[in-house]
Parts: sequence; C-alpha cells; structure tokens
Amino acid sequence: MYTLDNAVDGKRVRSTSSRTSPVFNPATGEQICTLPLSTNAEIDAAVASAKKAQVAWGEMPSARRARVMFKFLELLNKNVDDLAREISREHGKTHEDALGECARGFEVVEFACGIPQMLKGEYSRNVGPGIDTIAQRQPLGVVAGITPFNFPAMVPMWMYPMAIATGNAFILKPSERDPSASMLAWELFMEAGLPDGILNVVHGDKEAVDHILDHPDIAAVSFVGSTPIAEYVYQRGTKAGKRVQALGGAKNHMVVMPDADMDQAANALMGAGFGSAGERCMAISVAVPVGEETADKLVAALKPKVEALKIGPSTDASAEMGPVINKAAFDRINDYIDQGEKAGAELVVDGRGFKLQGYENGYFVGGTLFDKVTPDMSIYRDEIFGPVLSVVRRDSFEDAVDLIHGHEYANGTAIFTRDGDTARSFADQIEVGMVGINVPIPVPVAFHSFGGWKRSIFGDHSIYGPEGVHFYTRLKTLTTRWPTGVKEGAKFTFPS
Ligand code: NAD
Repeated sequence: MYTLDNAVDGKRVRSTSSRTSPVFNPATGEQICTLPLSTNAEIDAAVASAKKAQVAWGEMPSARRARVMFKFLELLNKNVDDLAREISREHGKTHEDALGECARGFEVVEFACGIPQMLKGEYSRNVGPGIDTIAQRQPLGVVAGITPFNFPAMVPMWMYPMAIATGNAFILKPSERDPSASMLAWELFMEAGLPDGILNVVHGDKEAVDHILDHPDIAAVSFVGSTPIAEYVYQRGTKAGKRVQALGGAKNHMVVMPDADMDQAANALMGAGFGSAGERCMAISVAVPVGEETADKLVAALKPKVEALKIGPSTDASAEMGPVINKAAFDRINDYIDQGEKAGAELVVDGRGFKLQGYENGYFVGGTLFDKVTPDMSIYRDEIFGPVLSVVRRDSFEDAVDLIHGHEYANGTAIFTRDGDTARSFADQIEVGMVGINVPIPVPVAFHSFGGWKRSIFGDHSIYGPEGVHFYTRLKTLTTRWPTGVKEGAKFTFPS
C-alpha cells in the first residue's frame, strides 16, 4: 500500500489532510493506495507557487520553453513502458491500450514543441499612414485542469503541455481513482528542466474542485469528465469570472449502411465498443444498422466475436479488455444490463456473472450485446461507460440521422458505407462534433482540436491543437505609429 504526495513548487509534498480516498487495483479489487485529499491551504500554496513562477516563464522566449517540451517528449518516450504500467495498475486497461493512450498524449506534447510558430501572431503594415497593427496572444497566468479516470495520462496531456508551452503555470487535479500516472509525468517534466511551480499536482475530490473553481488567482479551468459535473464546473467557474472549457459525456452511434463491408464494420465495433472495457468518451455504444437484413447480418457477425472476447488483467499480454474501474462502476453496469433485459431488449450476449480464475474479486464485466434496443430504454439514453453495445435497428439513412439527432450527447459518431454520396451527406448533416467515415473512433490528431457538441461540451473552445492555443491565451492587438513625427491637430471623428 502506498501514499501519494502532491507536487508543489517543484517538490513532492505529503498532504496533512485527514480526508483520504482509496485507490484500488481493479483486476484484484485490492486497495493499493491511500490518497490524501488536499486541504484548501495546500491548494492555495500550489497556486501561490504557480503565480510566482509564471511571471518569468511567461516572459521566457517561446523557443526556450519549446526546448523544455522537446526534452520532456524525449523522457516520455524513454519511460513509456513505466508510464503505461502505472496507468494499467490503477485503471486496469491492457498494457497495449495504455501504450496507445500514451502515444496519443505524447502527440500533444509534440505539437506543443512547435509553439513558437503558433504564437507568431499577425501583423499588418500601413493600416493607416505610418500605422501598423500587431495581434499577439499572451498567456492567462495560472490555469487549472480537472481530469477523469479513463485516460489518466492522455487527458491531462490534452491540457498542461498546451497551457505551459503558451506561457502559463498549471494546477492539475487528476482523478482520485488513478492519480499515479500524473505524478510520474510530473517527475519527467521536472527532469526535463521545467522551473519549479510551473506544473503543480494536487490530489482531491469535489472539495478541491470547488476551491479551484472559486480561486481568485486561477484564470481558466479545463475540465473533462461526466456531463452533470461538466455543467456544474462550467457554471460555477464562469460565475467566478473564469474562462472554462468543460467536456462531458457521450453516447456515440455508428451507422452501418447495407453496402458496408460487414466484416470491417463488425471488427470496428468490437474495438470501439469493447476496447478499454467501453470506458472511453469516444467508445461506440450504439450500432445503428440500416435495414433488417443489415441488422441480422451485423448481429450474426458480432455475436461470436463478443462471446470470444479475451478478458484479463493488464499483465496478461493476450487480453483484449480489462476490468472496469471500481465496484461502483461494476454494480452500475450490471444494473444497466438488468434494466435492458427488463425493458425488453434482446440480450444476445450477457456479460453478467463473468468470473476469471485467480481474479474473483476483480471488477470484470463480460462483453454484452443487446439487439432490438429502442430509444426510450435507459440502456440507450444513458452513458453506461462499460462493455455494453446496443443495436438500434433503423429502416433508412434518414431515420438513423434522426435517431442521432434525438440524443442529448453529440461527442463522436461514425458511418460505415462504400457510398460517397451517403458519406458526404452524413458528414454535412450530422450534428455531432467529431465524425468518422469508415473510422470508428475519430479522435482528432494533436494538430487539430477535440470537442463534441450539445451536452458533450460546455464552453466555446474545443481542447488541444489550435483551439488549445486560443483557450490558454488572450488576444492583444497593438496599433502603433512610427515615426511619431506626423503632425496633425486634434480630431474628433472616429479614426478611419
Ligand atoms: P467524473 O465526472 O466523475 O469526474 C471527473 C473529475 O471531476 C474528477 O477529477 C473528479 O474528482 C471530479 N468530480 C467528481 N465529482 C465531482 C463533483 N460532484 N463536484 C466537483 N468535481 C467532481 O468523471 P469520471 O467518472 O472520472 O470519467 C468518466 C466520464 O468522463 C464519462 O462521462 C466520460 O464520457 C467523460 N469523458 C469525456 C471526455 C471528453 O473528451 N468529452 C473524455 C474522457 C472522459
């Protein structure tokens, strides 16, 4: 059993809090860590250190900041196996999957290495006689990030590399369910030469989040997590005068047209539905085959694959999917399967009661497939966040689009078809933030930006990429006149 420190002002600091939270190994159900939940005074100390350090960091030439990012990237790549193991131990995902998470997080660090190019600003010469305009972006100061359990390394990396490269200091409040990966990344960043106080990690729960949201010295907050909390964070943070981007939950649909390659579609659904035990905000949890014949073929292709899913702990190299995060998630997912059955959906593969020899107390849920799910059922409406795939049959392309439009979430979606017209109509019409055409998990690469629509996001900025640069900076526009020797009298009309 270990205890985790905070990282404040360049040092590991043991919290003196009397409040703690247990961290479990989801494969065994054992408690492996006691996590102190930081006091408000400890968060204040982190913010004070960040505020002091940010002044020089924000003034530093961006190319020098980029050099620290390059070194950080090098150390991340060198230590990727350790980081992946740290992720898997507390989260439960397979080692391969954790390596994939790392790769997508490191991509953002890679993008942040090019920050001088992104901060060049704009310049217009002679907007008036001898007058030039310069538009530049300046850092906000101290900014914070609050992150979910499902990507303990990648989601924080959607935030702090961008914030730090643009000249801010950062306070990270990782998920209390798998907090260790953030500490290892912090250590590597310090080794790369990051000045003390530029990245601080404070562990905590709602109390810490509320204190961050109300803190007068924090200028902006990035949040990723479930929709009710995202909405709360957005409202409380903006009320306190902060810039807030809050990314929420999802229910992602994949439309399968009659002309799709059925094998390819079924394989895509397996990876997107059951990878990481369905605990991804871009997981596909609803398959929408168009036409009865397509649906019958798809379900027939999926059934044996779901039954054959190889489930195991992260230490089993052949496992395709691990356990879910904790007992509460395990109970919630099993309860949803009960609800789906009671509501009359056809339970094609039942993941309840799955047991793994030697891991009887682990939080393993077997792959579950429902057919003939209808939009009124809770298994369709709610984000289950587990290895449960629902098939909702539709008669036409238009019905499939209507179905997607009727859902409150709009994070990602996909269509599988061989027809260009259909694909293009889908891309044009669909009211969802990230769209895949024959791509099941369309997570944008780091030099684009990530974000859903509707109740999958609160705030105007998507995360990382160019939108990340905008979120963590504010625009200043200079209008300058050189030489100053142009003589003119007072003018009372608007400058034109
Ligand atoms: P969560 O909302 O429970 O927790 C997220 C963060 O909020 C954690 O740091 C937690 O400590 C904090 N928190 C929890 N309850 C709080 C409260 N009452 N008040 C203030 N703060 C609180 O989310 P989770 O279970 O850790 O993660 C899963 C969710 O995250 C899913 O809904 C998933 O779709 C979503 N997610 C979304 C994206 C995206 O990009 N849209 C990405 C990853 C995960």
